[in-house]
Amino acid sequence: MFAPYKDIIEHTLATRDDQVEARFEILSAGTEVTLHDCGVLRVEPNTACTTSLVISCGVHGNETAPIELVRDMVRDILEEEQKAGQRVLFIMGNPWSMQIAQRFEEVNMNRLFAGDWQNYDTSLKEVKRAAKLEAYVANFFAEEPTTVTQRYHYDLHTAIRGSQRERFALYPFVQGRTLPENQKAFLARADINTVLLQQKEANTFSSFSSLRYQAESFTLELGQVKPFGQNDLKRYRGIDYALRELIAGEPLPEKPAKPVDEFEVCHSIDVTSDQWEFFIPDDALNFTEYQPGTLIWRDGDQEYRVGSEPEYIVFPNPKVPVGQRAGLMLRKRVG
Ligand SMILES: [Zn+2]
Repeated sequence: MFAPYKDIIEHTLATRDDQVEARFEILSAGTEVTLHDCGVLRVEPNTACTTSLVISCGVHGNETAPIELVRDMVRDILEEEQKAGQRVLFIMGNPWSMQIAQRFEEVNMNRLFAGDWQNYDTSLKEVKRAAKLEAYVANFFAEEPTTVTQRYHYDLHTAIRGSQRERFALYPFVQGRTLPENQKAFLARADINTVLLQQKEANTFSSFSSLRYQAESFTLELGQVKPFGQNDLKRYRGIDYALRELIAGEPLPEKPAKPVDEFEVCHSIDVTSDQWEFFIPDDALNFTEYQPGTLIWRDGDQEYRVGSEPEYIVFPNPKVPVGQRAGLMLRKRVG
């Protein structure tokens, strides 16, 4: 499928600036595999399936561990070591930033989805790519057989900043929906015991598939950024196992086998002026817990202190211009 390159990563990097011609293969079990484009591979089983599954990685190119997991899943499907019981669209998001080992080259791709690429210069590679990826996902869902009743999208990432909770999921906001028990069961199976429920529509890849196509989707933060070849893939066994079970066609358990803690945003930390002061250390880990009364920021006679329950910080970054967000404070949901 990837000749003369040895695997999907090498092919994706080598063809990033090419017009890639589609390639098609039928495996002995009847599974149809189509390479649509650089880093875009579709798998269709020839048996009746119930789920359309999008597995994406490399939307930030330096987040290599999930890219290596996807490489190995694709290899095992092609070698028929991994059963393909559901239809799957594998995506390596940003080949140019993968090549230079950066989060992105010109534009952060994970701010370009849900149509937001239209607000940018469409001659930029990453902007063009986001538009194409939306089209591949749209076609994948549009062409599903009538037996399909579920759409899932897992967008795999790793973080630069360390976290008190090694792995966590972001569940995109869609008006009126709640997190289903079987998706919590997926997270528990993937050793992800933390989920942040977003409260505003966003322009991430996972928001796009849930807003436009009603997919159950997540952005999954699975560990820390490392260069290709330096990941300890043992730390990713949970997500690897959980995705492979889904690909094979195993149904999700109805209830999580382990607890999954749900968090929601209680305060958005905004930089309000040049006098604005931040009382969180620069190296604070995501999900660091702060006790009631702790001073978080002050600006003249305005300030924010933790309320009557402990709160947790995520994505702290005070080095943003006035008017922008410097982090989020979260509260754990009870019950
Ligand atoms: Zn990322």
